[in-house]
Amino acid sequence: MNFSPTTFAGRRYAIHGLGKMGRAAARALLAMGADVTAWDDSLAARKAALDLRLVQPKLKGLSGLVLAPGIPHLLPEPHPIAVAARKAGVPIVSDVDLLFEAVRANGSMARFAGITGTNGKSTTTALLAHILATAGRAAPAGGNLGTPALALPLLQGEGTYVLEMSSYMLERVTQVHFSAACLLNIAPDHIDRHGDIAGYIAAKRRIFDRQSRSDLAVIGIDDPDAAQLARMMNAVTISGEKPADFWGDGAILRSNTGDLADLSRARALPGAHNAQNAAAAAAMALYLGADLDAVARGIATYPGLPHRMEFVGAARGISFVNDSKATNADSTARALACYDRVILIAGGTAKEGGIESLTSFFPRIARAYLIGRDAPILGKTLAEHGVAHEHVGTLENAVAAAWTAAQTGAAPVILLSPACASWDQFTGFDARGDLFRSLAQVLISGETAA
Ligand code: ADP
Repeated sequence: MNFSPTTFAGRRYAIHGLGKMGRAAARALLAMGADVTAWDDSLAARKAALDLRLVQPKLKGLSGLVLAPGIPHLLPEPHPIAVAARKAGVPIVSDVDLLFEAVRANGSMARFAGITGTNGKSTTTALLAHILATAGRAAPAGGNLGTPALALPLLQGEGTYVLEMSSYMLERVTQVHFSAACLLNIAPDHIDRHGDIAGYIAAKRRIFDRQSRSDLAVIGIDDPDAAQLARMMNAVTISGEKPADFWGDGAILRSNTGDLADLSRARALPGAHNAQNAAAAAAMALYLGADLDAVARGIATYPGLPHRMEFVGAARGISFVNDSKATNADSTARALACYDRVILIAGGTAKEGGIESLTSFFPRIARAYLIGRDAPILGKTLAEHGVAHEHVGTLENAVAAAWTAAQTGAAPVILLSPACASWDQFTGFDARGDLFRSLAQVLISGETAA
């Protein structure tokens, strides 16, 4: 079943910002009968959307302006188009709200599950969708992760849309009703866009707006801000490490009604932070109708997402792990916590503070190979703590050097977890992780062929 081509007949929308979301929104709204114009300030972005009617938005009479999530409408500075829309009385609409409206207008009562938090959104979203699929349910994942909301198919009543919701997206929703919603954790992030931590928390909380008593609200209790919110809202609680309604107790995922899964079998979910993600996905999946067996099997068979502690392969007893998504020290800390001894590849464009916060993990680093612009900053911190390291410039050099060191028994794991953004050498963390994976695979296949 497809969305009716007259779903949005008679409406007029302008799309501003032609990234993945903007292009998908424009095409879907057109297919549903709306009159759509599209624009992006960048010529390159416009060139990727030549099938669309590319004109600067005329605001008069518009039903709504769809802004790319990265374009601010309030803080730190509203984009001029957002200011003009407010003056003209044109609402700024969210693609998730438009999906919700289209689904209901097409007579489907499919449910919506929403996941937010500072860290772990993508993992929990993909894991929940995987568990629901294991239970035989239609549950496509999308939103901030992978497929944009308006590129998702029309589901029948028994299906569930599993949506990753960033705080930028939550700032703009006013309609979608999440039958099951989860806030994983709160750490200071994106403060420029939300004014202060209170503004950031307020945006995240919006995931629970419009919920009724029979809906599910899940909140993590592993950081003080989220824990306080959980108490205030009397939510179902989750934790990666301490008793809660759903929680990770070492290798066992427990709930207040019994044990749920053996986390030691879940290769793609190492560490207490992933236990928190698994607890959240389990709580939501059970509420959405998955059975206990599907929860245990889904967690055990979850394949993981690329670039997040992705196990690439092993040769000569040496494993390669791609954690290119770790663009800050906090994420690299989670990765280092999973291993006793590693060869670390790190570097790129460092965040403020570099890797100072990682010192308690330094005894686990047998050697570090540093790449990219800010290698000297990371090297200085490592030198101060006596950690063996080398400046090797490129990822190619780093993988080759790490492989040689691993052969001499330095450590059984080669971990790319850069603690830095990648922009100095790559188009993004995914390009950096793809290169690491292919370099590792060449070494692994060379060994297996030999
Ligand atoms: P997001 O989509 O929120 O960025 P991901 O699932 O892509 O989150 O995970 C990104 C990184 O965040 C991971 O590599 C890991 O280091 C860290 N992380 C994942 N889950 C959690 C969690 N529940 N709590 C804290 N950190 C986490």
